[in-house]
Amino acid sequence: MRSFQRVSDVIEVLAEKALMVGFGGIFVLVFASLVFNYKGADNAGLPLFIVLLIIGLGLVGFAGFHLLQIRKVERVASDCPYCTYRNDLTAVPDSDFLCQSCNRLIPVKDGAILKVDQVRCGFCNTLNYYSEKTDVLLCEECNREIPIATDEDDPDRPRKRIAAGFAVTDDDDLYELILTGKGGKTEELISALQHMLALNRNQVKQMLDELPVTMLTGITKKKAEILQVQLSIHDGISEIRSMSNNQPR
Ligand SMILES: [Zn+2]
Ligand SMILES: [Zn+2]
Repeated sequence: MRSFQRVSDVIEVLAEKALMVGFGGIFVLVFASLVFNYKGADNAGLPLFIVLLIIGLGLVGFAGFHLLQIRKVERVASDCPYCTYRNDLTAVPDSDFLCQSCNRLIPVKDGAILKVDQVRCGFCNTLNYYSEKTDVLLCEECNREIPIATDEDDPDRPRKRIAAGFAVTDDDDLYELILTGKGGKTEELISALQHMLALNRNQVKQMLDELPVTMLTGITKKKAEILQVQLSIHDGISEIRSMSNNQPR
């Protein structure tokens, strides 16, 4: 089990206990006062009243004890390295934990929160974070893997960095997008293509009869990839080719 907990969780448990025990105590005291009112002329109910009074007061006191514990909960402020939200923990963290605000896993090593580095997804340009503990980095937005590699210069300290040739690299090559197939959503695909290529319906239909067909040429890889995803939503199968060496990508 982890040696630390979220302060808010601990307080919730204590408050719940205090509330339950406290209500129980009040209920017993109300009952005791009823017993006192109807104790009878010969005071036959008096011993029961006294027993109930002691139990009721005991429970209320116990509830108060729990409330006091809340004030004594240890707080170790642990700032989220992603969103800087202050996570209050009951002890110094000794393992990774989720940020209460942004829900990201905060990396912890040797009792210290690791620094995170930023990288933009090479595909969708979303800002992502990684630390030296990150093994596989998946883009938060599009779920594609952003490759990271160990720094060769310093193998003892496995500080991760972004592999060369990825992330946001300026790819000056031009690409073409070739539509090679279509699935069942033909109508959807037609309207998507009409929109994409500014063609009329008949032109698009004719195009689909002549697959494979080069849709666009001289576009950046990023644009080609975005269009490829849009087409795949409508079951369109496409291929991106570099115009310099004609290899399928
Ligand atoms: Zn956060
Ligand atoms: Zn992405």
